[in-house]
Amino acid sequence: MHEMGICDGIVSAAVEAANDAKASRINSIDVTIGVLTEIQEEALQFAFGVLSKDTIAEGSTLAVTMLPAKSVCGECSAEFGHGRFDAKCPECGSFVCTLVQGRELRIDSMDID
Ligand SMILES: [Zn+2]
Repeated sequence: MHEMGICDGIVSAAVEAANDAKASRINSIDVTIGVLTEIQEEALQFAFGVLSKDTIAEGSTLAVTMLPAKSVCGECSAEFGHGRFDAKCPECGSFVCTLVQGRELRIDSMDID
């Protein structure tokens, strides 16, 4: 599952940032994930539990915000939400759309001591 690799990046970045801030432990990490990353929150939580073990993030909470996919229509500029494979404008039926949300993968904030 690709969540392991993704989560490894999250844990590494978080631990590095906490070390830079001279923190002794991480209490929680807030992340935002777009649905088009195909990351499953459950799998991510599992990976986080495994990968944070024996780091200063061990026992911390991973708070995940999932963002739905959203696109803007290139024909009529309507903004609309959609699933993974159905980016079609509900206003005019155009397939000429630009994805504006859904591929996010970022750490928003951390609570450290
Ligand atoms: Zn349209």
